[in-house]
This record gives sequence, structure tokens and C-alpha cells, in this order.
Amino acid sequence: MTQISHLPFQRTDIGWCRLRAQFLDGLLSVRCAGCNARGAALCATCRFALLDASRRGLGAVAAGPDAVIAAVEFTGRARSVIHGLKYRNRRAVITHLAGLLAGRLRDVGIRPGIDITAVTWAPTHGARRRERGYDQAELLARATARVLGVPAVRLLDRVDRSGPQTGRTRLERESAPAFTGRRSRHQSVLLIDDVVTTGSTLAAASGALRTAGVRRVVCSAVAATPVQNRRKRRAPLSTAA
Ligand SMILES: [Zn+2]
Repeated sequence: MTQISHLPFQRTDIGWCRLRAQFLDGLLSVRCAGCNARGAALCATCRFALLDASRRGLGAVAAGPDAVIAAVEFTGRARSVIHGLKYRNRRAVITHLAGLLAGRLRDVGIRPGIDITAVTWAPTHGARRRERGYDQAELLARATARVLGVPAVRLLDRVDRSGPQTGRTRLERESAPAFTGRRSRHQSVLLIDDVVTTGSTLAAASGALRTAGVRRVVCSAVAATPVQNRRKRRAPLSTAA
């Protein structure tokens, strides 16, 4: 009798051990998007490194009409993390990146509800969205809006340029996306992209928002390529024009 009464407990123990093993396997199979270490979607070392980079304001782009507020430079760990989000489905990093960007925006004096009343994004190309199953710029915008306490509103549509493109060079087609803006009651909008490189995407999106009636557009990105790289990338554009 004693042995029989113990059987259910033994089975439960075996089941528990399997569950624990599966849990640990799952945990160990998760790798950091920044450094590939096992155990977390973004390890503590990478979190602190990104936070430190953001506090130093390395990603801030100079003021002016084309100013873009960026949380970090698009180098090292930040580059790996954002590549993980864009190309390896590492969506778990979204919350952290949104927190970094929201912190940077507050640091430079952007007041949610006063300077900006809504957050929007520059939609990625339809084919890329279908391929990935999500739009990383939209996810970042929605997460940042939650942190800032303002609504995320889709105000832009990407113009499909798969049709006739008479008069456009291949470089122009690839480097200058076009958008159309949607009318809305929001007059002051925070525009978000994941990475700013030449600034052409944000400039086109910002222009479309203004055409649609938005009076103030604050452009931002989680990361910005270092200024020296940006200048190098701009050189062929000016030559082509
Ligand atoms: Zn890491």
C-alpha cells in the first residue's frame, strides 16, 4: 500500500523535473541581442552600455531645421541590438529601446502633451513588413508613446514606387522614400524611425506630415550613424544630383 500511494508523487516529481528542464532549456536558448550571451533578450551589461551611451548623448544630431534627436550612436552594441530587432525577430528589446529614446527626448526638453501630442512613425516598405511580419518603426513608436503617455497614431503612408519610375536613378529610388500624410487633429507630432543614416527618410516623412497640416514635427530615432559616416554616405547623393 505504501509503495502504491507513493507512485503519484513519483510521477509528479518526474513531471516537475521535465518542466524545470524545459524551462531552463528555454531560458538558456534565449540570447542577448547585443552580445549573444545566453539567458536574456538583452543582458545587464548591454542594458547599462546602451543607457550609458544615451546619457552621454552620443546619438544627438546637431540642432537645425533637419535636427534629429537620437538616443545612441549606431555603433557597437546598439547596432547589434537594432540589427537583432530588424533582422532576427528580437522584438523583446523594443521596451528597452523605447525607454532609452523617451529618456533622451525628456533630457533635451521635449514635454509630452505640450511639445508633442502624438507619436507617429515612418512606415517601413510593405514588402519588408510582410517579410518580417512586423514594422519595427511602428513597434518602437507605439512603445515610446506608451512611455511618454501620448497616443500613437498612424499618420503616414509609404508611397509604393514599384510602378513606373521615369527619370529616377536607382540610387534616388532607394535612398529617398516618399510618404503621404493623413489629416488629423494633432498639430505637434513626434516622428520616430529606428535608425537615421542620411536623414532622407525622416526628412521625406516630416515633409509629408507638414503638407498634411502638422505644424510642428519633432524627428527622432533610436540610433544615428556617426556624423563622419553620414557625410561619407551623403557624398554619392550629391554627386548623383
Ligand atoms: Zn549582452
